[in-house]
Amino acid sequence: MRMPAIAAQTYSRCKEDPILGQIWKKVTRVLKGMSNPIKRARFTHEAVDKSLQELFTNPVVNNYVSCKKGCSGCCYTQVSVTRDEAALLSHVAHTKLKHKIDIDRLEKQARAGDNAKDWYKLPYADRRCVFLDSKNECQVYDDRPAVCRSNNVLSPPILCDTRDGIEHPLRLLKTEAADMAIAAAFMNSQETGALPFMLWKMLLQWRKVSREIDQTK
Ligand code: SF4
Repeated sequence: MRMPAIAAQTYSRCKEDPILGQIWKKVTRVLKGMSNPIKRARFTHEAVDKSLQELFTNPVVNNYVSCKKGCSGCCYTQVSVTRDEAALLSHVAHTKLKHKIDIDRLEKQARAGDNAKDWYKLPYADRRCVFLDSKNECQVYDDRPAVCRSNNVLSPPILCDTRDGIEHPLRLLKTEAADMAIAAAFMNSQETGALPFMLWKMLLQWRKVSREIDQTK
């Protein structure tokens, strides 16, 4: 299973913590009782957002977080998603998006699979997330993956730039409660992986099912 590194570290450090451990247990319990992947992804995102909202009520946090609308440095890195999140993104790509995603770029990205070395061999422009629009804004902001929600940097934004093919060390906001919800979602997922690879697989399945439906007409 590919679990985001920060969530994995938080889980192994905090699983015995009475409050943080409860978050993991609650998210796990709810996910086990839910079968619809889109609802499961949305439930996880609500749990992540709830814990982040609590953090952002602190004005100091607001002052020190460098992430701003239109800053898209992290959208050129390999984002990990659960199968539920890939299903949600595929659903949104088919039903809600104003602009079609660049399928050729997605296919190139998907070929890197989960391999970070192969990912960074891609030219910088080909690493751009297919959901970024021309204003460098996320087209799927309300449905973006949990990792895109929880990664908030305190270091200068220039360090998020991976144009040189290197992920620079960043100072991240501590988001332990959100990380525990993310850890639960990843541990209760049938499959996890890099966003382009998981989305590509979902889109192929979608295409196959629509073709089968067309043939029965
Ligand atoms: S889903 Fe949105 S926030 Fe996440 S990497 Fe893509 S464009 Fe960026």
